[in-house]
Amino acid sequence: SPLLELREVSFGYDRDKEVLHRLSMTVNRGEMLAIAGRNGAGKSTVSKLICGFYRPSSGTILLNGRDISRDTIKERAEKIGFVTQNPNHMISKTLIYDEIALGLKLRGIPEDIIRGRVYEVLKVCGLHELREWPVSALSYGQKKRVTIASILVLEPEVIILDEPTAGQDYRHYNEIMEFLRGLNSRGITVIMITHDMHLMLEYAQRTIVLADGKKLADDRPERILTDRAVVERANLKETSLFT
Ligand code: ADP
Ligand code: MG
Ligand code: MG
Repeated sequence: SPLLELREVSFGYDRDKEVLHRLSMTVNRGEMLAIAGRNGAGKSTVSKLICGFYRPSSGTILLNGRDISRDTIKERAEKIGFVTQNPNHMISKTLIYDEIALGLKLRGIPEDIIRGRVYEVLKVCGLHELREWPVSALSYGQKKRVTIASILVLEPEVIILDEPTAGQDYRHYNEIMEFLRGLNSRGITVIMITHDMHLMLEYAQRTIVLADGKKLADDRPERILTDRAVVERANLKETSLFT
């Protein structure tokens, strides 16, 4: 069975305006998946439903074949990591070590176990040398990695990133994407919400395109990107960095 599955999910923020209409989609274990679609298509809404910020008005969400539609955000966070578009601790004076350790502290895990897990994640994320630095001292790309590290330390099976490369320069774009590819090769399933065709071609095995809360296309990126009608409806972009 797939890692994650949405079955006929409908949802609206307001009673009279449905945003997702009987949307079905799967996420396979171990893949790097892109979710695309123009502004307002429902991409962020899908990720919020998966993470449990909202519940479907009908339909079900399954994780490893089990219906998680009624599980709390906290229960789902054990398995599903969510990296929002704009990390909210950009100016924090908190030390990187403490920032990454916070989620484990809140779970009441003993200090010595926390230390081992944080050190491992610091190494994986290339942040070990920076562990005593305040978050505010880092570059944007490094901050983004701290955000990802603070999710990874919780050992999720799947990580969802809302526009992971938006607003990045060339170096940080590559730094973040190569890093995500490395995580994926270690077995973590990666879902990336993006408009970026280069990212899809280079890093995603599959792209799901949403339009008006429905699935418009679901295929290999190189096939999606040769369908001009889909590219236009989804408002996909060349990376300005590479043009
Ligand atoms: P995307 O991430 O693809 O740009 P969203 O999932 O953010 O799209 O939005 C889908 C639709 O839901 C849009 O019409 C948007 O205006 C609406 N929407 C998003 N968030 C809210 C909210 N908190 N309250 C009401 N409507 C919302
Ligand atoms: Mg949007
Ligand atoms: Mg969005």
